[in-house]
Amino acid sequence: MSKEKYIGTKFNIVFVGDFHPTIREKESIKEMIKSGKATAKMGMKDENGGNISIKTKEGLIIKRTGAHPDSLKISDFVLVVQADKDTVWVKGKYEPSSESRLHYFVHQARPEIKCVFHAHDFLVLKSKQRFKEVAFLKPYSYGTMESARAVAQVAKTHEYIVQENHGVIALGKNIKNALDIITKYHEKFKLSA
Ligand SMILES: [Zn+2]
Repeated sequence: MSKEKYIGTKFNIVFVGDFHPTIREKESIKEMIKSGKATAKMGMKDENGGNISIKTKEGLIIKRTGAHPDSLKISDFVLVVQADKDTVWVKGKYEPSSESRLHYFVHQARPEIKCVFHAHDFLVLKSKQRFKEVAFLKPYSYGTMESARAVAQVAKTHEYIVQENHGVIALGKNIKNALDIITKYHEKFKLSA
């Protein structure tokens, strides 16, 4: 969040059980933590740090809300099993990321995509450069259904989305692919600055 103060999640949360990630899911969580740190090294660093989600058979794995990006652990991740316009159903001990609905509806809009990668790329946000293959969205209040709908709509036809005053979103067939897209556009906007 660049401009707006963080006030927590903006939906109801229903806890529906424990989350015990499989060995493979634990590996994916570690990769998400590492990829988040890689974007921090590129300057995408603030107290929130964005968020990454991966799709599993049961739902999507995403970090809990309020977890600091520098000290993320496997236990900071939860499983979102369902969402609608008011409510998010979650397995795990913690409230899911305030952007859980956005991730959920983007995964719904693009079933072939496995990873939704959201970062606060300040270099891209400051740039006046426009690329025609990139979706540029007007500012929305973070974590709202309005912003989730707007992103899910353009996600049908774009792999990279810029949310004015907020951040960027990449859609990847896996975590590495999504990080590569984030990196590719970071470099592309940097070169054209
Ligand atoms: Zn954000």
